[in-house]
Amino acid sequence: MDPSVFAAMTRKSNPIDISSKETLQHLIDHYDNFLFDCDGVVWLGDELIPGAAEFIQLLVDNGKQLAFVTNNSSNSRNTYFQKFARLGIPNITKDMIYPTCYSAALEVRDQLKIPLGSKIWILGEHGIEEELQEMGYVTLGCNDPKLNNLDLDSSILEVDPEVRAVVVGSTKDFNYMRISSTLQYLLYNDKSIPFIGCNIDKTYPGPRGLTLPAGGSVVNYMAFTSERNFINVGKPSGQFLNIILQDRQFDRDRTLMIGDTLYTDVKFGNDGQLGDGRGSLLVLSGGTKLKDLQKLIESGGSKEDLIPSYYAESLGQLAEVYGVEK
Ligand SMILES: [Mg+2]
Repeated sequence: MDPSVFAAMTRKSNPIDISSKETLQHLIDHYDNFLFDCDGVVWLGDELIPGAAEFIQLLVDNGKQLAFVTNNSSNSRNTYFQKFARLGIPNITKDMIYPTCYSAALEVRDQLKIPLGSKIWILGEHGIEEELQEMGYVTLGCNDPKLNNLDLDSSILEVDPEVRAVVVGSTKDFNYMRISSTLQYLLYNDKSIPFIGCNIDKTYPGPRGLTLPAGGSVVNYMAFTSERNFINVGKPSGQFLNIILQDRQFDRDRTLMIGDTLYTDVKFGNDGQLGDGRGSLLVLSGGTKLKDLQKLIESGGSKEDLIPSYYAESLGQLAEVYGVEK
């Protein structure tokens, strides 16, 4: 295909369906680096999306560089590394994995410049604790057993004045003690302790077709009750993208973001001007369906930042289009 024709086809508001080997080959020729969202793209919960491993292998065989960028803050890079291995996805190393528990820790150290050894309060799951501790911080809150049962006389509701930042992410143990204790830190000293939110995701695709509440619900609950804004360290944060591109030494113009969510993944690629302004691919294997994309396109120009350059059914379908044997 003439590249100029291809460029015209991929102009915003007219995303191109990658459903032929020719269009997929163009994609493979055009990009050196591939950023993947995980939930809804590579896997759904603990189930690998059929064909995803074959597509990733196809890219590796073609000499492509990969990184995995997930707004899920519950698991550390070590845990994800084990998950990739368990699901049979080859050649993935820890330094290719960017969950937002890690980007939160990077924010604490590199942007807020909070000295190592300082105390950080967590509302979230173990991944945040693990990444902060690995970096050299002391963590409080999180899964402290004192937060399990309602006791408004508990000493854990008293603010430790040495806490230097609050990190909030997804938790399946969201309860009144966790909310109440975290709120004390967010209000403390005229709301001066930095408030980091691991993501803005409203929902994620669960098992059996369920739609489940995601970390952004927790972060926004705390933002609402404390009447504070938070530093978003997840997609679509441009700062997060810059960290990854720099860390992996990826050329922005030769990088494609693949994800299943419009307001995080696609916006991340679009706002970040990946692929010379054509660097987002939506897969329909997660939370966004074709009718959602069609509705968005039909709604006109105001949400151009959410419209992907390309779309495909799934990574498995891409592998199939290429003729990869399963
Ligand atoms: Mg996703």
